[in-house]
Amino acid sequence: MNALEIAADVRAGELSAVAAVDDALEAIARRNEELNVFVHVDREGARARAAEIDERVARGEDPGPLAGVPVGLKDNLCQTGVPTTCGSRILAGWRPPYSATAVERLLGAGAIPVGKTNMDEFAMGSSTETSAYGPTRNPVAPDRVPGGSSGGSAAAVAAAMVPVALGSDTGGSIRQPAALCGLVGIKPTYGLVSRYGLVAFASSLDQIGPLARTVAEAATCLEVIAGHDPRDSTSLPEPAPDLRGHLDDGVAGRRVGLIRELVEGADPEVVAATRAAADALSAAGARVIELSIPELRLGLSAYYLIAPAEASSNLARYDGVRYGLRVDADDVTAMNVATRTAGFGAEVKRRIMLGTYALSAGYYDAYYGQALKVRTVMIEAFARAYEQVDTLLGATAPTEAFALGAKVADPMAMYLSDVFTIPTNLSGHAAISVPFGRGATGLPLGVQLLGPARSETRLVSAAAVLEAGREEA
Ligand code: GLN
Repeated sequence: MNALEIAADVRAGELSAVAAVDDALEAIARRNEELNVFVHVDREGARARAAEIDERVARGEDPGPLAGVPVGLKDNLCQTGVPTTCGSRILAGWRPPYSATAVERLLGAGAIPVGKTNMDEFAMGSSTETSAYGPTRNPVAPDRVPGGSSGGSAAAVAAAMVPVALGSDTGGSIRQPAALCGLVGIKPTYGLVSRYGLVAFASSLDQIGPLARTVAEAATCLEVIAGHDPRDSTSLPEPAPDLRGHLDDGVAGRRVGLIRELVEGADPEVVAATRAAADALSAAGARVIELSIPELRLGLSAYYLIAPAEASSNLARYDGVRYGLRVDADDVTAMNVATRTAGFGAEVKRRIMLGTYALSAGYYDAYYGQALKVRTVMIEAFARAYEQVDTLLGATAPTEAFALGAKVADPMAMYLSDVFTIPTNLSGHAAISVPFGRGATGLPLGVQLLGPARSETRLVSAAAVLEAGREEA
């Protein structure tokens, strides 16, 4: 059942939240062993909260726009008392003493978190295969990856375990798995959703956002979690935008730029799907032009300096003293080394080394400093494009879901999965991935709509047009 139908029925007293949660728990029980989607299921917590929602409805109260809706939380989002591992051994057994603002807002809207979803370790990856808890399989094709790093959240929705889930997107980790699992995924404008309680990967890039089957469900979920939060100093000082009110705005008169650099090198089916999406927008009254923004080609190189640099600093806190794992040794330094050696996987270590090198004295200007300049060049290039058009269109990922294991031995091939999504993170802008078209083996593909900061309202209405037009694709 769709999240909006569940909420409507629960609010009307026609469906019990306990029944909705039990459905989700049953769906999880049926396929979790096969797909490895949830790393922790909070059966008791979820059922107790559902019973509270039912009591509130019985008393005549309105629990909110997501009343009784079971949700999945990526395992880098803190919820008081619920294990949070970030897909890493180093946080095994850690239970946060507080909840993320986004999680509190979901609870405040009546939603019911049912558990924590699998992810690439510390969100570093594009396939959910770097998790210390084993890979997640794509429910659409279980021999394929679900994408990553929010692959567990995508698989949870695609397998109909929950109607919506939260992920985080630092370089594409909401949009790419959404595309590979046939879902809608939104990377909000940097600062629109509070990062308080999101375990940090690269703080200047990280954003929390929703994954859902439909634009309306994703938009509703984003409205609930967005808006100013004094506990995050980078939070935009304004209320959540009205997205639900703009779903039917259409695209008549809008100017859309099909970006050459956001399709080049992609599979032919991906290029065709993106062109078909451009046609669907034109048919709905938008004026589509083809544009080139060559600076976007610099995104991957800048990202793989900036993100690891920030990660190497953020991950310094896992020292065996304060959180999770500790491997004892003769003195503190040896304990730190032993803990980090045992606690982090290969990809995380690769990023820490890359980031530490990029920040080290003597190399700072040549690498990290240079990457920051490139980031500015890209932001200026986007700004010029947005003088000509209001929305950009491109592919979300260069391929359909790939086979498990296909890219694990080749980090560069894995990094290329995010070549089309990374530029938006560097600019801090908003983007949405919508299912559109099919790959060579019939798996779902996604196309991406991009807009400047705070353009979510326009992005959801354009996404709704593509959603309506996708049968023709
Ligand atoms: N795949 C990219 C990386 O590995 C992006 C990950 C993300 O958005 N969290 O860094």
